Amino acid sequence: MELREMFSKYSPFGDLTVVSICFVMIVLMMFSYITKSRSFRIFLSLVSILIVAALSDVTFYTLATSGPQYRSAASAVRCLYHFLLFLIFLHFVIYIVEVTRMSRSEKRPYLIIAGILFVAVVLVDVIDTVRGENFILTEEGIRFSGRNVFFFGYIAFVSLIIALLAKVRKRLYKQVMYGFYGSMAISFGVLLTQGLNGQASFTVATFFYPIIAMFYIMHSNPYDVTLGAIDRRGMEDTVAYHFAKRRDFLFISLYLKFFNDEGKTMPEDLQASFRHFTADFFKGAMLFRVGKGHVILMIPADRNPNCESQMTNLHNAFRHEYHRYHYDYKIVIGRAIEEISRKNEYVSFVRSIHRNMDENTIHWVEPEDVKRFNRSDFILKQLEDIYEKCNLDDPRVLAYCQPVYNIRTGKYDTGEALMRLRLDDAGLVFPDQFIPLAEENGYIHVLTEIILHKTCDQIAQLTQKGYEVSRISVNVSMLELEDIHFCDDITRIIDKSGISGDKIALELTESQTDSDFILMKDKISQLRDLGIKFYLDDFGTGYSNMERIMELPFDIIKFDRSLVSASEASERSRTIVVSLAHMFSNLEYSVLYEGVEKDSDEKMCMDMDASYLQGYKYSRPVPIEKMEEYFEK
Ligand code: C2E
Ligand code: CA
Ligand code: CA
Repeated sequence: MELREMFSKYSPFGDLTVVSICFVMIVLMMFSYITKSRSFRIFLSLVSILIVAALSDVTFYTLATSGPQYRSAASAVRCLYHFLLFLIFLHFVIYIVEVTRMSRSEKRPYLIIAGILFVAVVLVDVIDTVRGENFILTEEGIRFSGRNVFFFGYIAFVSLIIALLAKVRKRLYKQVMYGFYGSMAISFGVLLTQGLNGQASFTVATFFYPIIAMFYIMHSNPYDVTLGAIDRRGMEDTVAYHFAKRRDFLFISLYLKFFNDEGKTMPEDLQASFRHFTADFFKGAMLFRVGKGHVILMIPADRNPNCESQMTNLHNAFRHEYHRYHYDYKIVIGRAIEEISRKNEYVSFVRSIHRNMDENTIHWVEPEDVKRFNRSDFILKQLEDIYEKCNLDDPRVLAYCQPVYNIRTGKYDTGEALMRLRLDDAGLVFPDQFIPLAEENGYIHVLTEIILHKTCDQIAQLTQKGYEVSRISVNVSMLELEDIHFCDDITRIIDKSGISGDKIALELTESQTDSDFILMKDKISQLRDLGIKFYLDDFGTGYSNMERIMELPFDIIKFDRSLVSASEASERSRTIVVSLAHMFSNLEYSVLYEGVEKDSDEKMCMDMDASYLQGYKYSRPVPIEKMEEYFEK
């Protein structure tokens, strides 16, 4: 069979369109954020090769139709053109292997076959062309005379790619697969149509369609177009890129608590301010949205030598905006820190700083922050380990106890269990440094179980030695009540120790929502049947809902230390506290004052319907074994 391709059927518009669209893509890539991954670099080479391939196709036809004296040059360009198209095939294989993260051993056979195929096809193509056995250029077109290596090479590569896609199909999201298959199907359709018409103008274009699919699916723009922000993964990729290239940068983090809640969206003009902050103060700055109300601006240091003064300008602009909106904010400003970049943990780092920050303040990162972050990172790892081991005797979790003075009997017969951690390298760790971490990461319940177990054990020992222990209270976090096993866990631990339920009290803080309230009511009623008592902790620190409190069968209301201090400071506050305490005791609740430090505190609290007193005046929290010194025989 003799194949012919008529020059009259070729038009350079197909190739030139490909070249121009490639340039459009390059422009878009320059002005959007794209992760500079390996696959993206392969993609960029693909686009460049495609441009050269399309131009070589145009050159070939120009030469071939310019007279017999240009025919050998045209043949050479034709070989170059084939070489480039196979190079694109080879890159397709490398690209698929890269984006699907195939292991070394998995990808090796495919890469070897693709490599051999590439070298073989290109070599045979060149040799055949030189020997005049590939194709012959005539006045009116190409006459394929020999074995048409290009055709066989094309079929072989396409088969290899289909086999490879079949192998990785489970690793790619189905929609992504369909995207690639769809674009390939269109390529084949175009190729077939052009073959049936003896056409040749769209061969390069058929290589282009899968590349468009890659751009769209794999490297598309993750901008939030209204805010001009990129997502958290984008930030991590950028940090990794800067770290690898050893590039310095500054970051400004802005946290607006208000928008962190579900369903709160930023108003139009606030978004406009964000766009203005990002675009108009620094060169090459990128904004990342790392939480609903949390954005971080990254500023390349080398492109902004005068960043200090720009920072002041930005600050002034921000203050102006703040006076318009009055959303509470926390701002953290810093420079790239090697340690944090290596771990790629700027978001957690900034959040750890937020914990110790007041609303509407600006914090400049200091070396001390990094130390503190590393410490809390270490604590978190330990908590994770404690959680995984789930050993109720874990020696790292210490039960301390603070005795409580009973005014009616004039004795110490109760106390509050308080947790400490003893960690190698970190020493004794206090609750403010680990309770929030444990709560955020879901480790709090195990800690409570350990403290409860150690407390029960201690009560059993004290009772056996003949000490009078009415009960010891243990703190419980609201989050724990959501666990369906909560009541079973508490019951099991108390039962195992052999003490009776009424030796234990649980301290709860007020529920903030109706669903929490229902949950609390349900758990309290279940556990009260075992004799367990309930305390309302930290009364006076939040907005109290009296109606809800009255509906729960608490035994003791613990007045927070802030109420004690306030009563001391003003007559008015004192009147309020007195009437609250009076109301509670009339309703048969006992009132306990926390944070009694001085004799004057004690005297004042005694005049305010106190049943129990707790504070440094009597004792600081001590290791629970030392409670023998307070309880009487
Ligand atoms: P809290 O439940 O309000 O515990 C009372 C805190 O007040 C204790 O701090 C105690 O040492 C401190 N305190 C006692 N007397 C005085 C005083 O006279 N003056 C002052 N200024 N402070 C006094 P600690 O042990 O650091 O515990 C802090 C918080 O950590 C506790 O507040 C509680 O919310 C939480 N916590 C402690 N242990 C546990 C636990 O086992 N589980 C849970 N979920 N939370 C715990
Ligand atoms: Ca407490
Ligand atoms: Ca308290």
